[in-house]
Amino acid sequence: MPHVFASKPRFCVGFKPGLIRVRCPKCGTPHFEYFGPADRDEVGAELALLRAELARAFAILASQTRSPKPSPGAAARRKRARRR
Ligand SMILES: [Zn+2]
Repeated sequence: MPHVFASKPRFCVGFKPGLIRVRCPKCGTPHFEYFGPADRDEVGAELALLRAELARAFAILASQTRSPKPSPGAAARRKRARRR
């Protein structure tokens, strides 16, 4: 069962699809709020979001590899990421 928000939340990667349910302040019943592109492509919206997150993660990894001595924690994080 999808969670119904009392008010429109700020967009978060935790909301899997571009669609979320928000309780209407007028009639009290849940309505759908869409956070994706104007073409209403749910899958495309999620992929675009995940691609942006992936690019951010790669930027963090790239900055860690460039540093001369990466911390042991960073190396462990890289190992875990590779296993997926
Ligand atoms: Zn309403």
